[in-house]
Amino acid sequence: MWISIEDGAEVGAVKSKLQALGLWTRVLKGRSGAGLIVDPGSAAVSPEVILAVAGVADVSVEPSAHPGVDASAHRPVVIAGRVIGGGAPLLMAGPCSVESEAQIHASAQMVARAGAAFLRGGAFKPRTSPYAFCGTGREGLSWMRDAADAHGLGVITEVLGEGDVEEVAACADLLQIGARNMQNFALLRAIGATGKPTLLKRGMGSLVDEWLLAAEHLLAAGGGPVIFCERGIRGFEPSYRNVLDLSAVALLKHVHGQIVVVDPSHAAGRRDLIGPLSRAALAVGADGLLVEAHPDPAAARSDGPQALHARELEAIGQDVIAEADRRGRPQSRRAAS
Ligand code: PEP
Ligand code: MN
Repeated sequence: MWISIEDGAEVGAVKSKLQALGLWTRVLKGRSGAGLIVDPGSAAVSPEVILAVAGVADVSVEPSAHPGVDASAHRPVVIAGRVIGGGAPLLMAGPCSVESEAQIHASAQMVARAGAAFLRGGAFKPRTSPYAFCGTGREGLSWMRDAADAHGLGVITEVLGEGDVEEVAACADLLQIGARNMQNFALLRAIGATGKPTLLKRGMGSLVDEWLLAAEHLLAAGGGPVIFCERGIRGFEPSYRNVLDLSAVALLKHVHGQIVVVDPSHAAGRRDLIGPLSRAALAVGADGLLVEAHPDPAAARSDGPQALHARELEAIGQDVIAEADRRGRPQSRRAAS
């Protein structure tokens, strides 16, 4: 929705009056002067009411660039028997990579003990170097499913390429789309066509609008619910890996009404910052955390420096429960099968 402002009216004052009606707006210079564009997560207010605000010249309803995303706003989803986006945050945790059957079983045990709802782990890994460990592939997927089932956990794992979509969709509850693939449109279409829920990581150099449109690609292809995951964007500071953009989390959550999970592990790149960043993410309203943890971080084959030890993961599990209580929404338990 586009609201044009009367000549001579003070834009800031009009913006405040609209905000009092529940309309979040951004100032844009349109073809016919200054105007305000209404964020899709705003309250539904009729054009008549808006026109009655002093300083408003006209209201026009323009089609949104991402109608599918807008239509899914403020809708909790149920994945693997757990409610996500319903108020209580949840924890998704596990190793960066699925390395062996024993490692993923030990991880599942540790993750369940910390109160997590989902086991994470990459069987197909995107690695910056082609010579680095690239995961255990198909075999790793089935170890992961068995390990998660043994502990009542859902499975979230990355789909790296179009060739893996069918196999991963058959095994996982939630399909992860990695930061490096956020704008791989052929992959988004193929994943969307499965109808499965997805966790869409933000590209490390992507705008929020590009992220929303990537989600729209999934939905336009027939995809299931999309969970947005902020994992840090590239900055210039070398003391940590990426800049955790909590402003984007607040924008997607509170203005666009989307379900947002925060991955502090790939943002920080170091385990000593994961606890504080997790608490910040919960405070800003995140619907969940996706964190890396390993039964033996020193032996991890990828991302060891950011992998949490069991006791550190348990502390984060406690923070998630405390936040659920603070929000007045006890964590949903997985229905007994
Ligand atoms: C991961 O979660 O293991 C991963 C590779 O993350 P990202 O795509 O955010 O780098
Ligand atoms: Mn990793």
